[in-house]
Formats: sequence, structure tokens, C-alpha cells
Amino acid sequence: MACQMAPFNKLPMPKSSKVNFKVIKNPDIYGCFDEEEMEIQISSNACGHFTTIFQTLLHEMVHLALYVRGDDDFHLHGEKFLRIKAVYSELYNFDPKAI
Ligand SMILES: [Zn+2]
Repeated sequence: MACQMAPFNKLPMPKSSKVNFKVIKNPDIYGCFDEEEMEIQISSNACGHFTTIFQTLLHEMVHLALYVRGDDDFHLHGEKFLRIKAVYSELYNFDPKAI
């Protein structure tokens, strides 16, 4: 569903059935994209509100999108990452300086 939302509807996203979602307990991270498992992980011990879960999901979806299009630095928060993040932060009224 989130893949159908801007800006992800304009990015080369995989079918949702090809991506695993997992709730983890690590309090040190909000979430993680594991490219080997094609898995987005969200930490229930770091994300206590829907907004945080949603922000984390979108954040990890940027890593996923960069990975799918073949960017070697998909795991970094470089210029390409920040460009996409700026779009969804503006669209969904998120703090662009947050996670
Ligand atoms: Zn990240």
C-alpha cells in the first residue's frame, strides 16, 4: 500500500509480496532494511507511536528503492537518499531532520 503513495509510486519498487516485514525488539534502532532477506524490520522497542512507525517504514523504503534501482550506496543517507526523504517529509509533514 505504501508503495502506491508518493513518492514511492514513481520509484522502481518491488511487489510487496517480494518484501518481508518483521517486528524486531532492538531498542537501539528504529528500523532496518536487510537486502539479503529483502526485509524491512521495525523495532517495537524504539517505535511507540504510529507516526514513528510510519516514518521508519518510509525511511526503510527509501533504502529499498535505492537498492532495487542498483545504487551501491543504498544503505547510506547520502544525497540520493535525502532527496527522496525531502519529498516525503514535505508531503506528509514530517520533520526533515528526523530519522
Ligand atoms: Zn537509514
